[in-house]
Amino acid sequence: MLQPTHYIPTGGGMGVISAVEGHVRALLTGLKYLVTKPRITILYPEQAEELPQGYRGMPVYHKDKCISCSLCANICPANAMKMVKIGKKKYPSINYNRCIFCGFCAEVCPTKAITLTQDYHTATLRKEDLVIE
Ligand code: SF4
Ligand code: SF4
Repeated sequence: MLQPTHYIPTGGGMGVISAVEGHVRALLTGLKYLVTKPRITILYPEQAEELPQGYRGMPVYHKDKCISCSLCANICPANAMKMVKIGKKKYPSINYNRCIFCGFCAEVCPTKAITLTQDYHTATLRKEDLVIE
């Protein structure tokens, strides 16, 4: 059975030492937060964290710039992007259920037809809504 690190086994000197060590560590952690700014949870979704520059959120597709080269679909490591034939041309479709926001598709696109946003709000009631064709 797993035991907490500061569990004191009966009749063992090492157990007492590690128990004291554990308490000292806990006290030091408490002291650290006495003198540093407390971390508190924000009231999401009313409040939102300010995202750092370069944050990778949902990729978006700009159809007018796309040359149907398929590079985005080929590089996608999560199989979230697939080429779909519509008429004579192929267009990428994005499945945000699978997307890991790695940004590879935006990086590889030669015409900047895919760009990353700072949007990470993918929650939805129907998973079909997260497939964009
Ligand atoms: S961001 Fe990454 S996982 Fe998402 S569609 Fe682009 S390549 Fe695929
Ligand atoms: S890599 Fe860019 S241009 Fe090529 S298919 Fe994807 S979105 Fe279109």
